[in-house]
Amino acid sequence: MIHSDWHIHSEYSYDASNPLETIAQNAQAQGLCRVGITDHANFNDEKFLSDLHRSVAGVKEAQKKYPFMVLGVELTPIEKPEFDYIAKTGVREGYVPPVQDTPFDIELAASKEELMALGVRYAIGASHWRVDVPKEQRSTTDREAYIKEWYRQQMWLACDERVTILGHPWYHGKGIWYEDFAVIPHSMNMDIAAALKENGKYVECNSHFFHTAMATEKFRHQYAEFLRELFEMGIPVTYGSDAHKSYGDARGQVEKYLAAAGFVDGDFAELAEKDLW
Ligand SMILES: [Zn+2]
Ligand SMILES: [Zn+2]
Repeated sequence: MIHSDWHIHSEYSYDASNPLETIAQNAQAQGLCRVGITDHANFNDEKFLSDLHRSVAGVKEAQKKYPFMVLGVELTPIEKPEFDYIAKTGVREGYVPPVQDTPFDIELAASKEELMALGVRYAIGASHWRVDVPKEQRSTTDREAYIKEWYRQQMWLACDERVTILGHPWYHGKGIWYEDFAVIPHSMNMDIAAALKENGKYVECNSHFFHTAMATEKFRHQYAEFLRELFEMGIPVTYGSDAHKSYGDARGQVEKYLAAAGFVDGDFAELAEKDLW
């Protein structure tokens, strides 16, 4: 059912360790026809931008031997005031969030022009943390606030010109809604789906939800059904292993739930040439 993987981290991500050579060989062994390397570019500071530059150089070199490798990037919403502070000072240190009653605006680490100039061909845009309030005000137990903020970010990502694929929708590091996906209002998913469709975006089926111990069986089935609903609305679904530290084959585990939700071979999408930059 799954023949390509559009979300893989190499050793050029701060939290990952797979050399590109290993990724390419594993992809060949797994029979994948295309793999996308999407290292993290979280902030517009020297650290993340130099990681991105190394990722770009590494992938361009590896592509000579492995032409099925595609250069992407993973972007994450950050606070606009922090982006502005880094743009001015070059560093994250010393940033003091402004005091305001409204949620902070959202920004991503690089412009589309900057990414394209580097040769990046697509971006995964994905939520990882709250950016509506300063760090001290983010509580992992405040589920309602998280849902509201994820909705805001994902709607924003679904409309931003840099985002090719909405990455791991409703991922949460502590899995605070991984018991029952029904705590996410269906209307939110329909809004996100409408925006994705309107803007010609893809949505990702990320292996995380199907192997993390935080997700219940019930959640996994609900999540696969959520992806199926979007697919049936005409939103193409791509697969992402989101491999960081090893590159095992999670497809068997994932496909079990996808098949139960109605997916068959041929349903999963490749990024079309017209959608690559
Ligand atoms: Zn991610
Ligand atoms: Zn990732």
